[in-house]
Amino acid sequence: MKNWKEVESRIKSSAHTVIVSHRSPDGDSIGSSLALYYYLKNFIGHVQVITPDPAPQFLSWLSGFDTILNYQENKNAVNEELKKADLLCCLDFNTPSRMGDLELAFQLNQDAYIINIDHHQDPDDFANFQLLDTSASSTCQLIYDFICELDGIDKLTVELGEAMYTGIVTDTGSFRFSSTSKHTHNVVAELIEVGINPGQIHENIYNNYSIDRLKLLGFALDQRFNVYEKYSAAIIYLSENDLNQFNFQKGDTEGLVNYPLSVANICMSILITEKDGKVKMSFRSKGNFRVNELSAKYFSGGGHFNAAGGISDVGVLETVKKLEKIFPEYEKELNA
Ligand code: 5GP
Ligand code: MN
Repeated sequence: MKNWKEVESRIKSSAHTVIVSHRSPDGDSIGSSLALYYYLKNFIGHVQVITPDPAPQFLSWLSGFDTILNYQENKNAVNEELKKADLLCCLDFNTPSRMGDLELAFQLNQDAYIINIDHHQDPDDFANFQLLDTSASSTCQLIYDFICELDGIDKLTVELGEAMYTGIVTDTGSFRFSSTSKHTHNVVAELIEVGINPGQIHENIYNNYSIDRLKLLGFALDQRFNVYEKYSAAIIYLSENDLNQFNFQKGDTEGLVNYPLSVANICMSILITEKDGKVKMSFRSKGNFRVNELSAKYFSGGGHFNAAGGISDVGVLETVKKLEKIFPEYEKELNA
């Protein structure tokens, strides 16, 4: 049983709330943080959104984006915020380590009431109140449920709704992933009723590329794209040097991992990128292949059934070789 009475009284008696989400912020972590921010501002004098590292610029049009503090560039200010918080809201992650370096600072505050709202598999039990649903399309959709349970839809506003729609649209791949449900569309219908403009939001998110970003896409598909027909799999790999040639900005590889899945019979796509010497993995699949299991087993990662991430402890080309050795183990499942 969830203790809605307790969470309501904690919210309504909070003087200082901090909202945190995972490292490498995305549309859903930022969207859910800002949606909850606007809701909590109704009751709480001081609400601060914090991210472990900077949020991508493709979200900078969102109201409230400029108020976000990132730990990487504002360690002292973030430490102060966390110290003062009596309520900590953890959004779009299932285990504290997803906060990266911010985890240690976060754990110094042992007194705050912790709320965790998330849709990832295998959540850790680290909060006083958890609203968790792995079948939800996005954390933004759960923020809608949270607000409705506590107050009802009259607390929705356009600025809140734009943030919420952004997380839903980005985490569902514009409503095409299987996590998109009748409820997802009902939530969006309510947001349209409130006054959001979906066409304009798509324009802001998807038609705002730099020329370099589009050229990077062309380069990646032309020069750094391996197809393994035997395993119905594909890899795109980009070294730091490749990215630098296209004046890489945070967010420029967002969505790149989905392109190989547009080819008939490719059911798994993997993107390998190197940034600041670290090799990051993104996995996507169509159908029944569980990329979160592969990522957890070989790349210290995890995530959802059809979308997961992880890290590699070897270089980009060695990671490609490592994957080529791993594929045979999954040949049957990949071709099922
Ligand atoms: P992306 O490929 O967009 O970075 O991540 C896809 C999904 O995988 C995210 O929604 C997140 O759930 C999960 N994910 C990404 N990186 C990691 C990671 O390093 N560890 C874990 N456990 N999950 C990750
Ligand atoms: Mn999410």
